[in-house]
Amino acid sequence: MRSSLYIEGRAGERVVIDTGPEFRLQALRAGITRLDAVFLTHPHADHVHGLDDLRPLCRDLNKKPIPVYGNRYTIEELRERFSYIFRHTQYGGGKPRINPRVIRKPVRIGALSFTPIPVKHGMLDIVGWKIAELEDGQTQERGGAVYLTDTSMIPDTSLDLIHSPEVLIIGGLRVRPHETHFTFKEALQVALQIHSQRMYLTHICHEHSYRDIDAYCHAFQADQDCTGVSMGSAYDGLEVEV
Ligand SMILES: [Zn+2]
Ligand SMILES: [Zn+2]
Repeated sequence: MRSSLYIEGRAGERVVIDTGPEFRLQALRAGITRLDAVFLTHPHADHVHGLDDLRPLCRDLNKKPIPVYGNRYTIEELRERFSYIFRHTQYGGGKPRINPRVIRKPVRIGALSFTPIPVKHGMLDIVGWKIAELEDGQTQERGGAVYLTDTSMIPDTSLDLIHSPEVLIIGGLRVRPHETHFTFKEALQVALQIHSQRMYLTHICHEHSYRDIDAYCHAFQADQDCTGVSMGSAYDGLEVEV
């Protein structure tokens, strides 16, 4: 299935990053019955075209529409692609009750903070997300995961924002170079550069089996003398505790 991330916070926060074409199937499998927010990386079809299936999760009229966060480009594209949601021209049928919001700074959802990480996806400016949990007193971030997909370049200012995450989930498309995505090697090099303790490759194309990718990671680690870092492929249904 296409790449996305479902986050459950310790205080009951429920958040999804990206709603790809299989969002409905993924949500059913994960048992998602409510969401506090949706965060988007960018508006390519493989990341947003399951958006309409948020509908059953925002049926309760006593609750506010689900906030959907993205950069300006993403939110403008969303309003165009899903115009029926925002215009009053559809009669009958249902549509999701969502509240699109342009992200300008880190957002708090309960005890979780979500920081947008600007990255390049070829020519496009998109965002990854850093997720951290705030300790009691709510000033100190603890642990933390970084989710970067569809990335081909990370500016230095963004690298500074994601130093030493406990978990890095990063897009690596394949071994062969690609104009708008990191290769496996480029993604693994980012993990070393920012000193992540655990790294999972995601957004993998169909040219390689999971077994091949894990073998690739082991060979990379032996070559780079970094066997203390955990590196491997993500897969559908993978659960990670941070
Ligand atoms: Zn993309
Ligand atoms: Zn993609």
